[in-house]
Amino acid sequence: QNRQPGIEAQMDPAPEYIKNSYQGSGKLAGKVALITGGDSGIGRAVSVHFAREGADVAIVYLDEDVDANETKRLVEAEGQTCILLKGDVKNVDFCKKAVADTADQLGKLNILVNNAGMQFPQKDPKSIDEQQLEDTFRTNIFAYFHFANQALEHLQEGDCIINTTSVTAYRSSPNLIDYSSTKGAITSFTRSLATNLADKKIRVNAVAPGPVWTPLIVATFDEEKIKSFGSETAMKRAGQPSELASAYVFLASEDASFITGQVIHVNGGEVVNG
Ligand code: NAD
Repeated sequence: QNRQPGIEAQMDPAPEYIKNSYQGSGKLAGKVALITGGDSGIGRAVSVHFAREGADVAIVYLDEDVDANETKRLVEAEGQTCILLKGDVKNVDFCKKAVADTADQLGKLNILVNNAGMQFPQKDPKSIDEQQLEDTFRTNIFAYFHFANQALEHLQEGDCIINTTSVTAYRSSPNLIDYSSTKGAITSFTRSLATNLADKKIRVNAVAPGPVWTPLIVATFDEEKIKSFGSETAMKRAGQPSELASAYVFLASEDASFITGQVIHVNGGEVVNG
């Protein structure tokens, strides 16, 4: 993704990956989690919070080695093991290999977090070319299927899948038509897969973030959009990655043992229609 120089300085406040007040209490002790896009933004916060709760973490990431290494350092600082799996989730063979490598290297897989995502804002639908459409769908929804399918080789009773959808699945998004379509699909995928896997006692849920300060925002929105980012929420601000991560911890833990097929909206009170 094309990160625009200079705009990063306008991100106010800078991304906060761990809430200083957040105390882990072993909710995920002994668990192994695989987090796609776990290197950056929301995924990084989830990786670090999971580690703080006692989980070992496998991180799938595309190309930002600096981000991935920094996240690994943060996970290891919590006393947990972290492995880095570099590759493109658009590639089905890579998805399969990443799950197999996680189980091989960390001994098992208990929690899959399908979180890697990308967006290209557009002025009108005609400007979405075939390649962009394919890339967006392959990254944002096809990969979620591939990781889930492969993870089912390893997930046992009591384990779970958490998918990152978006507030854009619940409101009109005229400049993110393809992206919001994939996010709508993730919501339906979550509900249907949850029902399908209920007999196996594997829970499937989703988190729908509203505006959150992450590198994705800096890379893809223009200066004007960044200036007003979050102003449409009831709380009149964008969230921090750490404010999302606690929802993932809750869904991954025994605290959510009777919750499946649901979406938790973490969005500062943004009005949603769904
Ligand atoms: P981010 O750019 O910080 O992190 C996304 C990560 O996904 C990247 O660092 C990259 O490693 C990974 N990724 C992207 N394409 C990949 C590919 N083809 N193969 C492998 N890895 C790939 O962005 P973020 O804001 O933390 O986004 C995380 C999720 O949250 C995404 O699904 C996004 O759609 C969703 N989301 C974000 C916001 C927001 O305001 N930031 C709002 C709603 C939903």
